[in-house]
Amino acid sequence: MRTLCIINGRVIDPSQHLDQVADLWLRGNHVLALGPQPQLTADHTLDVTGKIVCPGLIDMHVHLREPGREEDETIATGTAAALAGGVTSVACMPNTEPALDSRAAAEFVYRQAERAGNANVFPIGAVTKGRQGQELADLGGLIEGGAVAFTDDGSPVTSAEIMRRALETCGRFGKAVLSHAEVLEMTRGGVMNEGVESQRLGVHGMPAAAEEGMIQRDIELAELTGGRLHILHVSTAGGVDLIRRGRQRGVRVSGEACPHHFILTDKCLRTRDSNFKMSPPLRTEADVQAILAGLKDGTLEVIATDHAPHAPEKKARGLEQAPNGIIGLETLLPLCVVALIEPGHLTWAQLIEKLTINSARVLGIDRGTLQPGATADVTVIDPAAEWTIEPSRFSSKSRNCPFAGWKVRGRAHAVLVGGKIKVEPAAA
Ligand SMILES: [Zn+2]
Repeated sequence: MRTLCIINGRVIDPSQHLDQVADLWLRGNHVLALGPQPQLTADHTLDVTGKIVCPGLIDMHVHLREPGREEDETIATGTAAALAGGVTSVACMPNTEPALDSRAAAEFVYRQAERAGNANVFPIGAVTKGRQGQELADLGGLIEGGAVAFTDDGSPVTSAEIMRRALETCGRFGKAVLSHAEVLEMTRGGVMNEGVESQRLGVHGMPAAAEEGMIQRDIELAELTGGRLHILHVSTAGGVDLIRRGRQRGVRVSGEACPHHFILTDKCLRTRDSNFKMSPPLRTEADVQAILAGLKDGTLEVIATDHAPHAPEKKARGLEQAPNGIIGLETLLPLCVVALIEPGHLTWAQLIEKLTINSARVLGIDRGTLQPGATADVTVIDPAAEWTIEPSRFSSKSRNCPFAGWKVRGRAHAVLVGGKIKVEPAAA
């Protein structure tokens, strides 16, 4: 087996509380050792002086669109976008057509991901059959097919009784239920946050209470059942607070933030550019500050993108008609550098923790660590690389990115999946 040594990098692995310049030894598809190993000789050496070496990044909230909407993205193009962004594992959401609600559907995702040979893909199963909210999907069959968690994302689980049973059943299997928190009666027809800015534009809004009401319900159900709950894409100050208080009294609830929710506000909608339209919507500056505080104090332990590709003609329908969502895989890292690292909100170790081991723990997957014996998924980050975001150069099939033209810092320098170099080191 081939031995690869990545030398002179700053190795940051929060799963081992590690942050030091060290050599990382890989053999075959596994991590072999860390630090000086006089008894070993490398077949291949990669000098990454000045770079950060960390466990392969995990994005646990990605829409790959296949099957059913291959004009927006496929498993092959979405995982290529992941690699370009330094992400070695994605968890894909079940709102495909048909929905990912059966063992066969989960197995299809694994087959397509293996065929593409890019990033790892871990399928997330639907909570209810066809994501229709009427009856529980075949959760046991989905788990046999390799589903790692459950959600009806794109939609909430409207029925509290079905959500309660999902938390109970998934809890027995040791799996988390991921909540897209939205009280639909309150958001119907809404295109943005309800507030001063929606009034100004004269469009229907989605109030913060629509998200917070459902977060509150789901935390109560997690408390009642003892199940494991993860709140997707938290966008409001009240939502952060509900999760914080739930965790303080011992409820098994985790929270997730997306870069757009801690960088942009509803003022961006003044341009009427549909690339600022998503669900939950961009909120106010106070909400942005609350999400930053939640990231800092650990209430929000995961950062994920909610990568939601839509073909250009769909986003061109105008603010009111365009679908919700933006792509995120290829901007995740630089946006976190610019918005979290450079202002001093998070240290590199804290950021990497939210992009690796914390997501792996929510999903219960054996990734996100560089401990000896672990799968050799590695991201090498150039924290100083300056570049301009140009969606036309992305590997994703879609272009719905609100950050076009932004000058940013931080980029994946090299990416390894299962010990194989998938993104070659960028030339100096
Ligand atoms: Zn969602």
